[in-house]
Amino acid sequence: MNRQISTQAPIIVWFRRNLRLADNAPLYHAIATGQPIIPVFLWTPEADAPWQPGAASRWWLHHALHSLATALQEQLGLTLVLQAGNHPETLLETIIQQTSATAVYTDERWEPFAIEQANTTQATLATHGVAFQQFNTSLLNHPTALQNKQGQPFKVFTPFWKTAVPLIETTLEKCLPIPPKPTVQAPITPPSVSLDSLKLLPTVAWDTDFYTHWQPTLAGAKEAVTSFLHSRVTTYDEHRNHPDVVGTSRLSPYLHFGQIGARQVWWATQASAKATEKGATHFLSELGWREFAHHLLVHFPTTPTQPLRTEFNRFPWANNPEHLHAWQHGETGYPIVDAGMKELWHTGWMHNRSRMIVGSFLVKHLLLPWQAGAAWFWDTLVDADLAQNTLGWQWISGCGADAAPYFRIFNPILQGVKFDAEGHYVKRWNPVLAKLPAETIHTPWEQKPALLRLDGVTLGENYPTPIVDHTQARAKALEAFALLKQETH
Ligand code: FAD
Repeated sequence: MNRQISTQAPIIVWFRRNLRLADNAPLYHAIATGQPIIPVFLWTPEADAPWQPGAASRWWLHHALHSLATALQEQLGLTLVLQAGNHPETLLETIIQQTSATAVYTDERWEPFAIEQANTTQATLATHGVAFQQFNTSLLNHPTALQNKQGQPFKVFTPFWKTAVPLIETTLEKCLPIPPKPTVQAPITPPSVSLDSLKLLPTVAWDTDFYTHWQPTLAGAKEAVTSFLHSRVTTYDEHRNHPDVVGTSRLSPYLHFGQIGARQVWWATQASAKATEKGATHFLSELGWREFAHHLLVHFPTTPTQPLRTEFNRFPWANNPEHLHAWQHGETGYPIVDAGMKELWHTGWMHNRSRMIVGSFLVKHLLLPWQAGAAWFWDTLVDADLAQNTLGWQWISGCGADAAPYFRIFNPILQGVKFDAEGHYVKRWNPVLAKLPAETIHTPWEQKPALLRLDGVTLGENYPTPIVDHTQARAKALEAFALLKQETH
């Protein structure tokens, strides 16, 4: 179909995070006006500092943009304009001057820097008489929609979710379809840089394994939700804590980049034959943790670097670069911790149970600051998300909302025995331990060296001796916590 060149002013659809066509409110409503559309993505990492996407996120973003550009072209006949610079508002100003656009429609983001960018953009565009409209396309409820009985933000998950669910059930609208192909075309297409010029892919090929674990595309998102609802949601409750089985949805990077929206996942789950099963309810409550994380980030914007419980500012964190390096590279000598860290390195993702185990090990066994763990996750996770990463790390270190109490110290041996009884997960990511029997897989140091050697393992040579002793580390952590408590009273 040859589209008519329109005499009407175009609308810019600024894709910030929701890199999809279906259930995409800014795109849908912009096309519904009948005006020509200019879809843009702006790469402005300096404006996001210090939270510019990490290396693994950039890898995902590259493929997500490629997938979005292809879908826009093939399904809507639209060319995605890519531009790079320091500030979104200045890039948009130039596009407006080039195209005479009269409005910018975009998806709402919740990171403090992104809120600031939106405010600055709105003010800048207003000086040109250009409208700026934001749509919530990533959360089930707006993160400011809920408050507790005292009119305050929630700090505990259970009452938050109890209040959130009825609101979702009464107000969540059905998903928007992929919009129809626009019938008109803007007279001018602004210049675009190439995707490769954004240099999102690594120059050293550490990402080879990622390709075997992920399909970072719109088709991959669809496949992930369909296969989960078809074959894993029923057993979600039972399997979700076991890193040795694929029991969860693995939707986190797709949700983060908005290749699928939470509303789409919610309605797809409700429509599935398994909707009334316990697994489905539990799965939806995990989306609730995602909502809670955004609620907290919006109300407590300093939490990505500062503990919500301010007494933790006085916590006597250690400064031990060797320990941090050993943790980052999966060389702690605790097989389940090392397996988690290696899963992260090789796949850009880590099972939630392992995230809790490795996180607890960092802050409680090594007494290293949670911010150091959050920063490593930020760089290495394909699903790195400021709200969810912050909640996870503050929860694990005991300094945030609804957090694990500080004295709850995950025992990496018992966690291994409980959640990876046969050691399949440990062996997968620490192949040197592959021949160890299940009884010793989580405690190789308790085995006689000669027996270990028969299984191909020499501690200190091809697998590390534990960098700290569990019992001593636990006692030290409890001591540090007791000190904090004393000072608080
Ligand atoms: P499923 O179990 O299938 O859950 C479905 C969705 O619910 C997930 O995709 C995710 O969006 C959300 N969700 C599940 N668990 C949680 C949770 N505990 N908190 C918030 N949302 C949740 N998740 C991220 O998406 N990005 C992060 O940067 C991140 N950092 C974390 C750091 C730590 C220290 C911890 C303990 C957890 C972190 N999580 C993070 C939460 C959780 O580990 C992942 O969302 C989950 O493992 C993703 O796997 P899945 O998609 O198979 O989850």
